[in-house]
Amino acid sequence: FLKGKTALVTGSTSGIGLAIAYALAGAGADLVITGIGEPDEMEDARRSLADRHRVKAICLNVDLITREGTHAMVEAARDAFGHVDILVNNAGMQHVAPVDEFPPERWDQIIALNLTAAFDACRLCIPMMKARGWGRIINTASAHSTTASPFKAAYVSAKHGLAGLTKTIALELAQHNITANCISPGYVWTPLVENQIPDTMKARGLSREAVINDVLLSGQPTKKFSQPEDIAALAVFLCRDEAQNMTGSNIAVDGGWTAQ
Ligand code: NAD
Repeated sequence: FLKGKTALVTGSTSGIGLAIAYALAGAGADLVITGIGEPDEMEDARRSLADRHRVKAICLNVDLITREGTHAMVEAARDAFGHVDILVNNAGMQHVAPVDEFPPERWDQIIALNLTAAFDACRLCIPMMKARGWGRIINTASAHSTTASPFKAAYVSAKHGLAGLTKTIALELAQHNITANCISPGYVWTPLVENQIPDTMKARGLSREAVINDVLLSGQPTKKFSQPEDIAALAVFLCRDEAQNMTGSNIAVDGGWTAQ
């Protein structure tokens, strides 16, 4: 049902973004995938996605911490396809430190990637959506867009900001057939999360099971991770006609974390 549409998914060479890219391609959309990585690996990701779903796909190696990077990304998408109909702002990074020891340059990078890049990508893509009379903006926020945890000042601030940006855009575009929503995951089983386990085991002297249940999933009542495909299925739903009146929502997929 997305044939003829182009989706731009930031941070889509791994984890949640990659799953969203696959799911949108599975629904027929042409894809712009982006990330930071080895050119060969990124080309492999592009080729397998295009081959598996028989869609057109390009892959961009762009650093979205810089405003030039975001600008270049949207320009390349426009050059390749002429339009962006679905924008998924998903790229994100984290840094964990007490606020009085938080490196200011890490603060700047996290705000730049998790919030400013989304603002710029929306700003540059919305005119293309307006011109075609249809659009979907989906922002990967987090449980940390509505609640906080200690030592994550920049991430929590950026994700709260992203939720506010999404609501504002939804109101501005309410009569343009363009929706804007956040998906807010709790813990999702991605390489990012899996790679934290050995260090946490060492740092806290805990077993793998204890790290998973008592540290990572301590705030998630279901005691289960979401899978990237769970998030991707919701992103696809938000592109359907049945979601035409869902806008400005912040949809939690967090095992009950923020219900507490
Ligand atoms: P991931 O580390 O697997 O993927 C991150 C992607 O972002 C990669 O494609 C990477 O190349 C790209 N990226 C990183 N730095 C970049 C930069 N400077 N410029 C451009 N691209 C860059 O991460 P993930 O776990 O799939 O997370 C994706 C999004 O979901 C993030 O916004 C994250 O905050 C959010 N999220 C993740 C979880 C989780 O448990 N994994 C939970 C809540 C929210």
